[in-house]
Amino acid sequence: MSDRLHGLRFSSSNLNRDVAPGADFYEFANGGWCRANPIPEDYSRWGTFMALDRKNQEQLRQLLEEARESVGAPAGSPRQLVGDWYAAAMDEAAIEAAGWQPVRPLLEAIGAADLPGGLGTLCATLETAGIQPFFELSVQQDARDSQRIIGVLYQGGLGLPEREYYLDPDPFFENARAAYLRYLIRLLELWQGVDSGHEGLASQVVGLERELARVSMTPAEQRDPHAIYHPWTVTGLTDEVPEVAWSDLFSAHRLPEEFPLNLAQPAFFRRLGRLVAGTEPQVLKAYLSLRLLSAASPVLSSPWVENHFALVQSLTGAKKLQPRWLRVARALDPLVGFALGQLYVERYFPASSRERTRRIFENVRSTFRDRMTHLSWMSAKTRQSALEKLDRLTTRIGYPDRFRDYAGLVIDRRSYWGNVVRAGAHALAYDLAKIGQEPDPEEWFMTPQTVNAYYHPSRNEMVFPAGILQPPFFDPEMPEPYNYGAIGAVIGHEMTHGFDDQGRKYDASGNLADWWTADDERDFHARIGRLRDQLAGVRIRGGQALNPELLMGEFIADIGGVSLAFEAMQRAGVAEGEGLAGFSAEQLFFLAFAHLWAGEVREDAQRLLLATDPHPPSVVRVNETLKNIPAFGRAFALTGSEPLYPECPVDPWGGPSADAA
Ligand SMILES: [Zn+2]
Repeated sequence: MSDRLHGLRFSSSNLNRDVAPGADFYEFANGGWCRANPIPEDYSRWGTFMALDRKNQEQLRQLLEEARESVGAPAGSPRQLVGDWYAAAMDEAAIEAAGWQPVRPLLEAIGAADLPGGLGTLCATLETAGIQPFFELSVQQDARDSQRIIGVLYQGGLGLPEREYYLDPDPFFENARAAYLRYLIRLLELWQGVDSGHEGLASQVVGLERELARVSMTPAEQRDPHAIYHPWTVTGLTDEVPEVAWSDLFSAHRLPEEFPLNLAQPAFFRRLGRLVAGTEPQVLKAYLSLRLLSAASPVLSSPWVENHFALVQSLTGAKKLQPRWLRVARALDPLVGFALGQLYVERYFPASSRERTRRIFENVRSTFRDRMTHLSWMSAKTRQSALEKLDRLTTRIGYPDRFRDYAGLVIDRRSYWGNVVRAGAHALAYDLAKIGQEPDPEEWFMTPQTVNAYYHPSRNEMVFPAGILQPPFFDPEMPEPYNYGAIGAVIGHEMTHGFDDQGRKYDASGNLADWWTADDERDFHARIGRLRDQLAGVRIRGGQALNPELLMGEFIADIGGVSLAFEAMQRAGVAEGEGLAGFSAEQLFFLAFAHLWAGEVREDAQRLLLATDPHPPSVVRVNETLKNIPAFGRAFALTGSEPLYPECPVDPWGGPSADAA
């Protein structure tokens, strides 16, 4: 396994010196790395980011195995929760012997329900077991009053990843639909034995999902926070969608008769009501049973796991099932992940990394502040709001000061499925209990061991879990220009999200309130038009085009992030220090940035990402971003004839650009 973990730290063997930096910087910086690190069979994509994730998982495995050994840890302690979870999840003999029996009570509840009248109660029962058919019930900060938590009902119910998978006539999606149908038929066979009626029933279920897909919003549409914010009341919902017994559903979750609610996609829910009323109960039951069996499959015995993997394989091109311990570690994260996180930071996170990261953060922030003061296209009033928002931006680094409490959750060594269901019920009840409350400032939305970061618009807060503060993102042993090019660019990226096409819709207090004038809006769009054209002109492997509308937000953040981090590095004075391996400090900065995105994606997985992921493909994140960074051209002494020469750089966040000249 350890050979896989090489290449996280920067080395000059990552490079492909046969390619000129100005021709294809992604290949120049990463060609050697990509050749030395092919996609492992059990992954659909691989890169430094994934390699770090995998290394992290190995560390978690160590902790899980140790916790399993510590039988008799105090009930409710992180070691007990994690150790017993892992012991039950790794007990293959018990899991194989149980087959699908663990889900029998829920299947019987579906079978006995009186539909559609009993749908509210039945959905609540399934939600309590962690299965959310038709839609997702959850909570959020009220977009217009960030100091209170409200309920949210969100579109859902699909077994395939996105609406296009049901509606697009392209052969790629047609193949996915065929694989999905085979998958559902096999679920019915595993449950009830071979029967010629399964195919017809499974087709009807796909038909029902297709109708849901038809009225689902696209990922690009969901990027507009106004489009997914519709304050509603329970009474209003009952009037609007009378076909679902909402009061039964909410009372089963012990919610009051009336409470504040965001009905994220009203059109979806109206259609859902009519659809439920017009569908035969037998098809509704088949749909609910299949959603349950599908969600449970990864936790059941091997025929179920294999069938589930066959679907994943068709959708992503993954070649091999991941080892059990790794699947278990991933499944644990959303359910009891903070208990494991507590053990993780104690063992693996050096306290000094918190302080160094905070220093880079503050230098990036003060760079952004100065740029904002000089942005020519911002009106004085908008500038004032932006500066206030930037000053009130908070950051959390490494781990929460207070860890999440799992009081009341029973995890034991008897049944994996039993643990999953109790933890799912506990998580949902924990969330729903917040409705009407003020948000808890200590709450994190990623576990500390996560290799990722986020900006939360309703909190105006940036969070960098301990998991991301290691190579390639942060390396305590590298010269500081490396860290500015790596975690510094990530910090800059996340910071600009607070002010970009989404973030500008939230004010300094985290409320949905547009603080831009019509003129700002017009000037900003005029400025980014050229970036949209740039993305529209890109063709990646196989001649595939990109969807600029889906990618613009992340693309602008990448440009802003690199540009801010570079200037922050210069201002911090660390650029005067030495570079590495014959590269100047400035060159090392850009190599570090490119190193973050080294890696490959299988072709099918690439299709999935192009349809759903708002982040551009890796090669675009490097090459197209750097075309907008004049300092990149200078660092590598590019000439105007080279493809990546920043000829017409655009940086809406005040970096040196053609517009400003
Ligand atoms: Zn982003």
